Amino acid sequence: MQSFYTDQQQLLAKTTREFALSELGPKASNIDEHEIFPREQFMSLATLGFTGLTLDSKYGGSDGNYVDMMVVIEEIASVCGSSSTVLITHVSLASQTINRFGNNEQKSRWLPDLCSGKKIAAFSLSEPQNGSDALGLATRIEKKDPNTYLLNGNKIFTTNGEVADVFIVFCTSDKSAGYKGITALIVDRTTPGLSVIPQHGKMGMRGSSTAEIIFENCEVPIENRLSDEDNGYFVALKILDSSRIMIAAQCVGIAQGALNASISYAKQRKTFDTVISNHQSIAFMLADMATELDAARLLTYRAASRHDKGLNYSKEAAMAKLYASEASGKIVNKAVQIHGGTGYFRPSPVERMYRDQRVTEIYEGTSEIQRLVISRSLLK
Ligand SMILES: Cc1cc2nc3c(=O)[nH]c(=O)nc-3n(C[C@H](O)[C@H](O)[C@H](O)COP(=O)(O)OP(=O)(O)OC[C@H]3O[C@@H](n4cnc5c(N)ncnc54)[C@H](O)[C@@H]3O)c2cc1C
Repeated sequence: MQSFYTDQQQLLAKTTREFALSELGPKASNIDEHEIFPREQFMSLATLGFTGLTLDSKYGGSDGNYVDMMVVIEEIASVCGSSSTVLITHVSLASQTINRFGNNEQKSRWLPDLCSGKKIAAFSLSEPQNGSDALGLATRIEKKDPNTYLLNGNKIFTTNGEVADVFIVFCTSDKSAGYKGITALIVDRTTPGLSVIPQHGKMGMRGSSTAEIIFENCEVPIENRLSDEDNGYFVALKILDSSRIMIAAQCVGIAQGALNASISYAKQRKTFDTVISNHQSIAFMLADMATELDAARLLTYRAASRHDKGLNYSKEAAMAKLYASEASGKIVNKAVQIHGGTGYFRPSPVERMYRDQRVTEIYEGTSEIQRLVISRSLLK
């Protein structure tokens, strides 16, 4: 157990681990194999209060901080990557946007059902022509009348997209204004003109649903606008900064799961009349995995604590995400190596972890974009 966590956080970690091992672990392989959205698991996470973990208790949340959320995400991800992606998107990306940037009416209307897990949220920023350069988006709004926007365009790669009831959508009122024309809206799934096209065939995180979202003359009430008109770029950047900490925590969890599996396999698999943990090359791989994992966890903890203390954390969050995602890539690779041929086949958990880990170097800003954020902060 990590000594820098409070007693309460250590208890939270223990409870979440027991829950993850008994409730998520046995189903992780099946939801991955058949691309099944883990709705039942999501509802169990809701019962534990995790679907509203960092959200305001006034609206049904649990008032947890980012270190609490880091603890929970790590434990879930160590057992089921897909469930952690679903939860991060629901809480840290989408619901958190309303929690942080919504007015009282918006929070009262949307947050209680999101905190309780009755409704699921998604965050639609990426488009077919704009991923890393997300603020160059083309989905557009125009005023139909003083109370209504008309929304047109399409988004891709929206996690939770197939099942979401609520979408945070970023759009532009004036593409020529660049990022200064961007507005963030809350869009109800039942809005006429909104359609969802599932995107199947992911390499990993196959239980987290991904979808293309199409808006055709969707009428969105102006009261659904988050923050000021044309302030959407600020909303997006701030939420991505904080949610990155949770992707780092997810990487720490996946890496911990891979290390745990590797240690237990190395202690029982025999070659040349001895367990493979007695071969120094295997023991040293475990040593490197544990060292890089600790470094990733410490960077993640630093970013989460700075967030919770109200300090600047943008550079630290990018460093944590960059390092933890790349370190977890090396760790899952070694885990497959330690498992030999067994690690290359389903349903070996390290085979799934190897595939699940890969996207952490891509979503919520690729490694190259994290390097851009870090270097800009150094050179400003
Ligand atoms: C499984 C999955 C789930 C996702 N979930 C969501 C979601 O819920 N909501 C959402 O909005 N998006 C989501 N995304 C989209 C994700 O955030 C983007 O895929 C990511 O930001 C990269 O964008 P892109 O795919 O367009 O790649 P591109 O931007 O086309 O990049 C291609 C390559 O060029 C590099 N590159 C680009 N620009 C630069 C630069 N300036 N300097 C150096 N290198 C550069 C990139 O690092 C990358 O290696 C998801 C993606 C995946 C795969």
